[in-house]
Amino acid sequence: MAEDLAPTFTYEKFNEYTESQTQECIENDCEEWTDIEKQNNFVQKLTLVDFWSGQTQFDYESYKTSWEVKEETKVTRKDGAVKTKTRIRKQKFRSTENTTSDYFTFDQILNSHDLGLNDKRLIQENFLIAGGEMNYISWLEGNAGFGGGSFPGFNGVIIPGSNIPAEYMEHYLSAEKEYGVDWFVLASLHFVETGFSTHPTMVSSVGAIGHVQFLPASWAGWKYDIGGGSVPASLDITNLSVIKGGGGYGVDANGDGKADPWDVADAIHTAANYLSKSGYSKDKRKAIFNYNRADWYVEKVMNNAQKFKDAAVYKPADGVPAYGENLMRPTQASVSSSYGMRFHPIHHEMRLHSGIDLAAVGKVPIVASADGVVARSKYNGALGHHVMIDHSINGQYVQTVYGHMRGRNVRVGQTVSQGEFLGFMGSTGSSTAQHLHFEIHVGGSYNGARSFSVDPAKYINF
Ligand SMILES: [Zn+2]
Repeated sequence: MAEDLAPTFTYEKFNEYTESQTQECIENDCEEWTDIEKQNNFVQKLTLVDFWSGQTQFDYESYKTSWEVKEETKVTRKDGAVKTKTRIRKQKFRSTENTTSDYFTFDQILNSHDLGLNDKRLIQENFLIAGGEMNYISWLEGNAGFGGGSFPGFNGVIIPGSNIPAEYMEHYLSAEKEYGVDWFVLASLHFVETGFSTHPTMVSSVGAIGHVQFLPASWAGWKYDIGGGSVPASLDITNLSVIKGGGGYGVDANGDGKADPWDVADAIHTAANYLSKSGYSKDKRKAIFNYNRADWYVEKVMNNAQKFKDAAVYKPADGVPAYGENLMRPTQASVSSSYGMRFHPIHHEMRLHSGIDLAAVGKVPIVASADGVVARSKYNGALGHHVMIDHSINGQYVQTVYGHMRGRNVRVGQTVSQGEFLGFMGSTGSSTAQHLHFEIHVGGSYNGARSFSVDPAKYINF
């Protein structure tokens, strides 16, 4: 655990060069200043600290010191008094820092110990009492997890992991599309409530019924409640006008004119309808809490949802290049900046652009360039939402980097296959327009000096 939470530091090279020039004067007669001579002085500066509760990004802006003039007078036999003026100035850097909270790794570790929200609150309380600073709980409540971005209504094929019965996927996906509730949360709820409809009776001790365990009064409307969520036996809770009149949540998804808690399509869509009306788009945890009024329940649904999401394979349908042999194009877009030395607008010097920029407008999917394992999935001020994937290609270690995405659909440790969806193209982090910054590293991984970076155009036909 300690090792996973140890901070990492990224340094980059900056040139604090000195410029100098001289001028000679005899009597009051001065010559032109000589050409400026530049003496490089490369120094390492800290640009990023990644620590257990977030990241601090350091940005540097260059400035030049004012000229400092030195005069020296020598008397020569031939010319009399010769005055030599030398002036020098330096390039220096001003730094600004910006810290963002990110408890993703920390949260993953606590989840692996099966800690629930109350335990997590207690951990924060203790930390605050001990004088620490922590906004983990508000991060949890606002972020809702799922690896920095989930994508309801994902346009493509989602192949569930073997832990989900494939026949239910169409219902989760269509309910997700209609109500904006993530398919893997619906799958998890279905699993937690009835073990994917394998519960022997699908009737609970408190009278909840059907595939996703609704109380009849919640299904048809609380105005029919005769106590504890039950309704009179004579009431037909599948009748759509009964539900409309009662303000219930039941919906008819299979189009048979009834909303039936014993029909799996109707039940899953009704659960999605309920979560959506409970504010799922704003606060997933709170909406799930409403379903069963318990913190342990929220944790159980969220943890299983995360497992289902990770085990699935996302293949975008349109706008994705054909599969390549070893490495494929990570997106369908045109090259807006190539790999190589270019003038850096912030550091005011020639610098290596260590990747290739691919730009396109709209909702453009980014996919894994090859089969591999996610080595990093996080946000920072430079690369924004970004993903790094480790590959083994013909026995050689290769790493690919995807920067400035809108959000991330994968997380650290997850296995991905070539062409698998990672997130949509965006402009997060240090970026001025939507594009993918894509890097390839061969024989070593991403580092401050990008020492293993290669020109992606030598490996992939863009
Ligand atoms: Zn770039």
